[in-house]
Amino acid sequence: MVSSSKVLTAPRGVSIIGSTGSIGKQTLDIARAHSPALTGSHEEAIKIVALAAGKSKLEDLKEQILEFQPNLVSVPDQASKEDLLNRLKEHGKSLPLPTIMVGEEGLLACAEHQQADTLVTAVVGFLGVKPTLAAIKQGKRIALANKETMVAAGHLVQELAARHKSVIVPVDSEHSAIFQSLEASLMRGRPQEVEQVLLTGSGGPFRTWTKEAIASATISDALNHPNWSMGAKITIDSATLMNKGLEIIEARWLFQVPESKIKVVIHPQSILHSAVEFVDGSIVGQLGLPDMRLPIHYAIFHPQRVPSTRVPRLSLSQIKQLTFEEPDLERFPCLALCQEVARRDDSSACVLNAANEIVVESFLKGKIGFSGIARTLERVVGEHKPIKAPSLEDILECDKWARHQASLTLAAL
Ligand code: NAD
Ligand code: MG
Repeated sequence: MVSSSKVLTAPRGVSIIGSTGSIGKQTLDIARAHSPALTGSHEEAIKIVALAAGKSKLEDLKEQILEFQPNLVSVPDQASKEDLLNRLKEHGKSLPLPTIMVGEEGLLACAEHQQADTLVTAVVGFLGVKPTLAAIKQGKRIALANKETMVAAGHLVQELAARHKSVIVPVDSEHSAIFQSLEASLMRGRPQEVEQVLLTGSGGPFRTWTKEAIASATISDALNHPNWSMGAKITIDSATLMNKGLEIIEARWLFQVPESKIKVVIHPQSILHSAVEFVDGSIVGQLGLPDMRLPIHYAIFHPQRVPSTRVPRLSLSQIKQLTFEEPDLERFPCLALCQEVARRDDSSACVLNAANEIVVESFLKGKIGFSGIARTLERVVGEHKPIKAPSLEDILECDKWARHQASLTLAAL
């Protein structure tokens, strides 16, 4: 379960993989408010030491380099490196250029950067697995946004983290809330005090839609999340409630609780970010506005609480009303599938995750309809021969197999 971690003396060295995405940019906004130049107290200063990003937003990456001056940057390939170098040279500012690396080697170098005590995993998908494991082996603190790593390889992450005394602080808002709610109990070493985890979710854009309407939802309907502004993949996962299902599996490994003790509660206002019910009947939760900068800020400064000029304040009297309801497993079959996979506790989670990445990409390209997502996932998981406690090699193999199988299934739809 959660362990307490030492208070770091600063400036904190932070490496971000996925710096140009939704979480990456919000992490840099927190870093901007705590830049060593601004922050009088070194304890609260953040120094960005490494940034990795994909190839689609190199202009944003250039701006980030000029502003934060990391000493290492990674991009996916040689062409992106040349493009980025040209942009930096064109800019003409006489700043020392960072070392620029490419591909998996670059991603791992960012994760392992010697001056980073914290790695923020803000990449999307299975791509996060290897760099996260690499940073854990160096004993770094992981501010974990990349839930797919926990879904596909949660047991390996936890084994390694225990061995290398690496602390994993979740960034996913629900898991940050559970982590914060659990901390007092777990610091006393008494996980048996937990009755169940109450994992909240907004219900997504189709919460009130009929089954028939959901089946013919368009891409823009699915991208229209009521409360959160996020990357495209997680936004589609929120529409299918796959996101909530992946979060069950993420919570299962982060907090070492079985699926039977994780209850999903739909809460349309996204103010109670999740809660824990203890054996004496007490429910402890964490509240805040739906803004990811709060869990990011918390993860970076944990175990301290540090004031923030960036996190917007919640006024309960303005919110007025918080409502809760049961999830509908019939209208949202992806959630039911995730619950089943979480109960199996084997390589099926890795397969489901990989197939989902392929299927969501296909939906976003307009190749399949919304109802094709759940149908394909059910088939691929059904065809998988599960492996208990899979090794890293098993996981890499299952991921590859599931991507191939999902593509075949989609082609036959
Ligand atoms: P996003 O799509 O906005 O950003 C993904 C980032 O990964 C981008 O910077 C992209 O350039 C980068 N990337 C892509 N390929 C890369 C490569 N080969 N090497 C290095 N970087 C590469 O995604 P997001 O919404 O920020 O989500 C990131 C993760 O955080 C996901 O796992 C998501 O589930 C999780 N998460 C996000 C939110 C949110 O509010 N956005 C909330 C909770 C959890
Ligand atoms: Mg979440």
